[in-house]
Amino acid sequence: MSAIDSLPPLREVIDTHQLLARKSLGQNFLLDLNLTAKIARQAGDLSGCDVLEIGPGPGGLTRGLLAEGARRVLAVEKDSRCMPALAEIAAAYPGRLELINGDALEIDPLQHLTPPVRVAANLPYNVGTELLVRWLTPKDWPPFWQSLTLMFQREVAERIVAQPGTKAYGRLALLAQWRADARIVLALPPEAFSPPPKVHSAVVHLTALAEPRFPADAATLSRVIAAGFNQRRKMLRASLKSVAPGIEDHLRAAGIAPTERAEQVSLEQFCALARSIKPLD
Ligand code: SAM
Repeated sequence: MSAIDSLPPLREVIDTHQLLARKSLGQNFLLDLNLTAKIARQAGDLSGCDVLEIGPGPGGLTRGLLAEGARRVLAVEKDSRCMPALAEIAAAYPGRLELINGDALEIDPLQHLTPPVRVAANLPYNVGTELLVRWLTPKDWPPFWQSLTLMFQREVAERIVAQPGTKAYGRLALLAQWRADARIVLALPPEAFSPPPKVHSAVVHLTALAEPRFPADAATLSRVIAAGFNQRRKMLRASLKSVAPGIEDHLRAAGIAPTERAEQVSLEQFCALARSIKPLD
């Protein structure tokens, strides 16, 4: 019996189901259930929420989410070897854990979820970044989720919360901070995982804003940011030349010196630039 529920400790689960970690699936498991419960607590009050968990693996975070009172957890796992272990958790929490064996990048879990929804995941870092960008850039806002609690490589976490004038500042910071409050809530050393990865990790918590922080057309803002940071060493009048005719005038209208570089420009200024290029109705 474990510290947080009546199920066996995770090492035993991994031995029983022979879940040898696969590098190709980015498998670095969390085995300390006190730690997974702590991560689950960072996701906020789960009692009235459905939680979408991507990449449950042997179920450490899943058990944390359920023990912390999630109304329901929908867990999407690509590795079919994990399904029997996850089914045991579902049996211990009747009606509260639904499992999907599939690739989170290909399936649409929305039809299985009832709002309010929170998302929690410890994912391979490339998959996590791709999903984060998708979750931050839906056609309509507010999105299906109320909050995202996601484990990242420390450097990626720092890029999400970065401020202008720093090396980490770029597209990810602007995308995240335009429509969400983002903060790092937990730092984890490699030894917290089995096997330990080469890098440090951090949990980022993002809360969806009811409306974007500053008004702007999403597609124009996204184009301006992508072009600005694609050549981040160049002056904006050069890197944004192809985005719109008369870019120097638009830059001035947004209060940005045309000789400025993207990493010095605030989110508010990028939004003003997007509005100058494409005024809102
Ligand atoms: N959440 C577990 C934990 O904290 O111990 C496992 C974390 S491990 C870093 C990442 C998990 O994501 C693995 O179980 C892996 O099989 C799964 N995974 C990798 N790519 C995936 C994808 N595209 N869709 C769904 N699950 C994926």
